[in-house]
Amino acid sequence: MLTTLIYKSQLNPSCKSISLLTLVEKARKNNTALDVTGILLFNGHDFLQILEGSEEVIETLFAKIGQDKRHDSVVELMRDYGPRRRFENVGMLLFDLRIDTPKSVLSSVLRYSKLDNYLAAEDRVFKFIQTFITQPRRTSGGSQFRPERWTLAAEHNPFGDAIAGLIDNQVCQFALQPIVQPTEGKISSLEALIRSNDGGSPERFFSTLDQDKVYEVDLLTKAYAFALAEKIGIGDHKIAINLLPMSLVNVPGAVDFLMDQILAHRLQPEQVVIEVTENEMISGFNQFNSAIKQLRAAGIGLAIDDFGSGYAGLSLLTRFQPDKLKIDREIVSNIHLSGPKQAIVKSIISCCTDMEIALVAEGIEKIEEWCWLESAGIRRFQGFLFARPKLNGVGEIHWPHFHHA
Ligand code: C2E
Ligand code: MN
Ligand code: MN
Repeated sequence: MLTTLIYKSQLNPSCKSISLLTLVEKARKNNTALDVTGILLFNGHDFLQILEGSEEVIETLFAKIGQDKRHDSVVELMRDYGPRRRFENVGMLLFDLRIDTPKSVLSSVLRYSKLDNYLAAEDRVFKFIQTFITQPRRTSGGSQFRPERWTLAAEHNPFGDAIAGLIDNQVCQFALQPIVQPTEGKISSLEALIRSNDGGSPERFFSTLDQDKVYEVDLLTKAYAFALAEKIGIGDHKIAINLLPMSLVNVPGAVDFLMDQILAHRLQPEQVVIEVTENEMISGFNQFNSAIKQLRAAGIGLAIDDFGSGYAGLSLLTRFQPDKLKIDREIVSNIHLSGPKQAIVKSIISCCTDMEIALVAEGIEKIEEWCWLESAGIRRFQGFLFARPKLNGVGEIHWPHFHHA
C-alpha cells in the first residue's frame, strides 16, 4: 500500500563534520533502489523528511532511521496512505532553507509534486511542509532536559523499613507508589493500590468478590490504606486512594465513613486525594456530582485518573475541574517519538495551566519520556522509572541527577 510518513529530526551534533550532501547522495541511491521518494528539508537546526513508498519498505526504512546514530530526536509526525504518489519518484531531494528563501523552496517542492496546486493547499502533507518552511528558525541550545545528561540514583527506604510481608486480619493489602517531583527531589504524594492477600492485582482482588459487594468492599478497604499511611508515618505527605464513583454514591454515609477513618488515623482531609477514572466519572456524572460536593465540603481532594484513555476527554473538564489530573500511561509512553502524542499533551498542559489544575504523568518508564515531559512543563511523575509500588511500604525512589557536559 502506498504510504507517506513524515518525521522530524536533528543531525547528531557529533556528525557535524559529515557533509549533508554526501548523506543525501547516499540516501538518494538507496531510495531509488527501493522505489522510495524522500523529500528532505533542512533549516540549519531541524530536518523535516517526507518518505513515500510501499508500506513495508517505508516501515523498515523508518525503523533503521530511528536506530541510526546520525539522527537525533526522531519524532514521527504523520503516517498516511493514499491512492497515488504525491511526488515524482526522485529518490531523494534536499531543500536547504539556509541557502534558499522560503518562497523559492515552497515553489520548488510544488514543482516536484504531482498534486494540483488547489489540492495541495488542503493536503496535510503539504501543510506540514509549508509550516516547516515558514516557521521562524529555532536556535539550538535549548533544554537542560536532554536524556544523556541525567542518571538515576536510588534513595533507599524513604519512609524507613516496610512492614515485612502481609498485615494480618485484613481482606486485602495495599501497595504504595510515590508520585514524585524530580526536579525538586520532592515526593508529591503516595498512591495506595489495592492487592489481594496473595499479592494479586486490583482486578484479581475485585473479581473474587460477590458482585453486589464490590462497592461496599471498595469503600471499606480504604480504612486499611489510611491505617498503612499512619503506620509508616507519612507525615505531611499526601495519600491518594482509588475509588469507583459508585462506591461513594451507592454506599450510604460513604463520605462520613471516609472522614471518620481519615481522622481516626490522624490524617488531615486535605492530605487525602481520591482518584476516579475518567470513564467511570462520566457514566454516572449526575449522581456522582453530589458526592463530589460532599468531598469538597469536607476538604478532600479529587483527581481524574487515566485521563485520555476514555471517551470523555477534554469535554469532561467543561463539567468538572479536579485539583489534579493524571494523564494516562498510554498517551505518555514513548511520547518522545510521537508528534501526535506531543501535540495532545501540549494541549492538555495548556488547558490545565489555564484552569490551575495540577498535572501528573503516569507510567513513566524511560528517561526520554520524562525529559520530554519536563521540557513541556509537567512537574509531577509516577512510574517504574522513579519507583515501583511496594506492598505495605514505600520502595526505593530513583531520583534523576544532572551532569554538566
Ligand atoms: P491506576 O490508579 O492508574 O494505578 C496505576 C497502575 O499503574 C498501578 O497498577 C501501577 O502498578 C501501574 N504502574 C505504575 N507505574 C507504572 C509504569 O511505569 N509502568 C506500568 N506498566 N505500570 C505502572 P495496579 O496496582 O495493577 O492498579 C491497576 C488499577 O486498579 C489502578 O490503576 C486503579 O484504577 C485500580 N485500583 C487500584 N486500587 C484500587 C482500589 O482500592 N479501588 C478501586 N476501585 N480501584 C483500584
Ligand atoms: Mn490511580
Ligand atoms: Mn491511572
